[in-house]
Amino acid sequence: MTTVDLDKLTKVYPNGTTAVSELDLEVAEGEFMVLVGPSGCGKTTALRMIAGLEEITAGELRMGGRVVNDLSPKERDIAMIFQNYALYPHMSVASNIGFALKLRKIPKDKRAEDVGAAARILGLIEQLERKPGQLSGGQRQRVAMGRAIVREPAVFLMDEPLSNLDAKLRVQMRAEIAHVQRRLGVATFYVTHDQVEAMTMGDRVAVLRSGRLQQCDRPQTLYDSPVNVFVASFIGSPAMNLYEATLAPDGRTVKLGSQTIALPAAVDERLPGLRRYRDRTLLLGIRPEHLTDAALDPEDREGAYLSGDIRLVEALGSELMVHFRLDAVRVHTDDTAAAGEDDDLAAEASAEVSSYADGVARVDSRSDMTHSGHGRFGVMADRLHFFDASSHEAIRD
Ligand code: ATP
Repeated sequence: MTTVDLDKLTKVYPNGTTAVSELDLEVAEGEFMVLVGPSGCGKTTALRMIAGLEEITAGELRMGGRVVNDLSPKERDIAMIFQNYALYPHMSVASNIGFALKLRKIPKDKRAEDVGAAARILGLIEQLERKPGQLSGGQRQRVAMGRAIVREPAVFLMDEPLSNLDAKLRVQMRAEIAHVQRRLGVATFYVTHDQVEAMTMGDRVAVLRSGRLQQCDRPQTLYDSPVNVFVASFIGSPAMNLYEATLAPDGRTVKLGSQTIALPAAVDERLPGLRRYRDRTLLLGIRPEHLTDAALDPEDREGAYLSGDIRLVEALGSELMVHFRLDAVRVHTDDTAAAGEDDDLAAEASAEVSSYADGVARVDSRSDMTHSGHGRFGVMADRLHFFDASSHEAIRD
């Protein structure tokens, strides 16, 4: 059992690119830490520095309290699992799993015992004599996991291990990997660009952007209290709706475009920092599920409503995704673009009429909102997010 500390870990490649900048992370024994962020944010580089595959430019890496910056990958007691799991095609599943043990000259009986134990954890007992070519994608990924498990490493490093699998298998395998990791209790770093994977698997999630840590916290905290616009738009699907808005001089309402949303007193109590923004422009964030179909909403929203022209209704069975447009300024910044928030519809809309903004509401499946109608949405005003218009930091206290 080992802890892993990254202390101002920095990587500058020989061509001058700073891929990771002063990354601080402390991973507890048995903790599942996910590194997530858009392409090029430095996740793989960070993982490779932990693995010893990439030289650390500055900062300190400690495992179990011991500085390991200058240790080779072999000396670090880690096991890596990649998306290209490169099994030996001519070897059976059992031999693939036990290969590292054979190299270590572990006696045959003990090897068979360890391989059997790993295969039981991974549900591969029936497949032990098969060759990789006779396995499904998910089974092959499990063999790759098995190879890592039998080595009993102090730390697991996983780099997008599920990205070669189809969507359904990915969902199944992410649950399996999380389950196996918890059972083994080995500190794990898991790299992904998929925020759903990050949210469902990690004990904690570190969100990176351009080599810098934005926020590291439990998934629910990231979702409920993103520290800035980037995290707010990266975490959550569909992404948070973000608009330019103006807080009234008395702080009781917020105006976006021609519409005014009443704010309950609870908002002021929860976010005292909002007082500094009275009579000023700020950025307003509304999660799609915090908009309701006003016609079905049992609550009196006390003046917290929003109207828009409906452009598209997607029926998902369990709920409706209602895409609408209103006369407000949607926030299109480097932040939201880097977070991959701009979907085709938004891009098309902003190209068409730049003074109009799009949004998405996730409403009850019983709603009869229809394409090309007009929608009136209830706003759960105590769940709104507010950000500084220039720094893009969340407004709190
Ligand atoms: P992806 O999800 O696309 O794999 P990532 O978040 O894992 O991206 P990295 O691969 O760590 O990002 O890359 C971080 C930055 O470092 C990028 O700007 C990339 O172009 C740059 N980079 C990566 N490897 C090298 C290298 N060998 N030499 C120079 N620059 C590099």
